[in-house]
Amino acid sequence: MADAAGTPVHVYSRAVLRTRVRALDAAFASYPHDLHYAIKANATLAVVREMRAEGAHADANSGGEIDVALRAGYAPDQIVFTGVGKTHDELVRAVTLGLKAINAESPGEMERIDAIARAHGTRARVAVRVNPDVDAGSHPHISTGLRGNKFGMTPAQAHQMVTSMAARAHLHVVGLHVHVGSQITSAEPLRRGAEAIAGLATALAAEGISLEHLDVGGGLGIAYEPGQIVLTEAEYAAAVLPVVRPTGLRLVLEPGRWIAAPAGVLLTRVVDLKAQADGRWFVIVDAGMTELLRPALYGAWHGIEAVSPRAGAPIACDVVGPVCETSDTLGKARHLPPVDVGDLLAVRDTGAYGAIMASNYNRRPMAAEVLVDGAAWRVVRRRQTIDDMLQWDE
Ligand SMILES: *Cc1c(COP(=O)(O)O)cnc(C)c1O
Repeated sequence: MADAAGTPVHVYSRAVLRTRVRALDAAFASYPHDLHYAIKANATLAVVREMRAEGAHADANSGGEIDVALRAGYAPDQIVFTGVGKTHDELVRAVTLGLKAINAESPGEMERIDAIARAHGTRARVAVRVNPDVDAGSHPHISTGLRGNKFGMTPAQAHQMVTSMAARAHLHVVGLHVHVGSQITSAEPLRRGAEAIAGLATALAAEGISLEHLDVGGGLGIAYEPGQIVLTEAEYAAAVLPVVRPTGLRLVLEPGRWIAAPAGVLLTRVVDLKAQADGRWFVIVDAGMTELLRPALYGAWHGIEAVSPRAGAPIACDVVGPVCETSDTLGKARHLPPVDVGDLLAVRDTGAYGAIMASNYNRRPMAAEVLVDGAAWRVVRRRQTIDDMLQWDE
């Protein structure tokens, strides 16, 4: 397949995508809930369509992702819209489409949504994003629930907002939203996030303000490194459900990474080998930060394996990309079987925040994406050509 599709290539397993979304759904089966797949994790249409085929709904983080959701076949009332900097045009689109909920991030945004809904003679469904001041315990770049982060409103602000907005004719506050971060590997931050909105919902109910749903966001982490301790889907449900159950409100979840990451590998070929002064090797491959940004952006660790391991003693190496940045390193201080130029390596768990974070830096065309379905496979996003890449230039 790598021969036919070329490298670098992102490869997704349809079976793993389906198994994961079903497993998460099953973990919450004892309580009314909707999974809204976080499109930003992997927005390739074929992947989003698989999610829809499995009954998941959609979480969009931009106008572009709303369009991805619509093209994948979602109805507007199956889409929630999040984002810390929604533009006027994005809000007009969201309001006029009549999305299930616009997750409002600030008092100013609530006012803008109200004004747009009034101008269009409609009633916008909004949820208020609460920043619970919870440390997700993951990388600072993907923690979103601390007071100093740019996301959401304090519980007190949110309370005041909902109370004052309850009487507005063009706003319908349908829920509360929280998302404390990504790649969360312990129950505590997820439980505390849920507690913040469940507590607020209870207080609002006592004032006679009833909501439709509680949206606990995404963030469930996966084991990138062997032996890494993470939450199972059952432990996740056990952390969240007892908190939400007493409210009686429908639960909304926005999982991205947990579903998609383990469904993908990035296949890349060795293009050069170079000895380092300390006896280790540089294994230089044809994929880099342009195909997988996470190691350069967060120091993220991804497993790297030879697809057809050669016999012999393992070599100590850094697996690096071709891009002119020292941070363009896919794996530092690794051990691989002996490799040769032309060998194929697989970088693991790249199905989320992989291809979607690609760039054309160094004028590198974006990689192809392939979906494997049993013994068959097909290209679901073709490799960019040089003409594709230059088509917007004068
Ligand atoms: C990124 C994001 C998600 C998905 O996060 P994962 O860690 O991939 O599960 C869900 N909701 C919101 C609001 C997000 O920003």
